[in-house]
Amino acid sequence: MNSQATATLEDQCAARGMRMTDQRRVIAQVIEQSDDHPDVEELYNRASRIDPKISLSTVYRTVNLFEEAGLVTKHDFKDGRARFELIPDEHHDHLIDIRSGKVIEFRNEEIEAIQEVIAKRLGYRLVDHRLELYAVPLEKGSKK
Ligand SMILES: [Zn+2]
Repeated sequence: MNSQATATLEDQCAARGMRMTDQRRVIAQVIEQSDDHPDVEELYNRASRIDPKISLSTVYRTVNLFEEAGLVTKHDFKDGRARFELIPDEHHDHLIDIRSGKVIEFRNEEIEAIQEVIAKRLGYRLVDHRLELYAVPLEKGSKK
């Protein structure tokens, strides 16, 4: 889908002429190593384990910089916290467990196809979409 898979986030930043300080490099690594959807505070916690001098505002500014450069994607899962992840190699959607806050990634070809059909019916060619499902775990023994 894109050629970003092979280059690290740090490489991509450099390729865009972004000035990479040590702290930005640490933040890039932390994002790269996260397979969840951390918010700024969580990224800050992880980054400060590597460099205790990193400040929350540096992390905040850096992730927004990465986002503006189109290198990471920002999610709003309705809990009031912006969450970040690398632009994935392959598109996926998210299910958010509203009780635990757990985020599950999924991809469903029927959903992908139907969205294209809907756009087409409306006279458009679909180029992107976001889908978030907000859910609670099924109660055991419940048939609802
Ligand atoms: Zn995701």
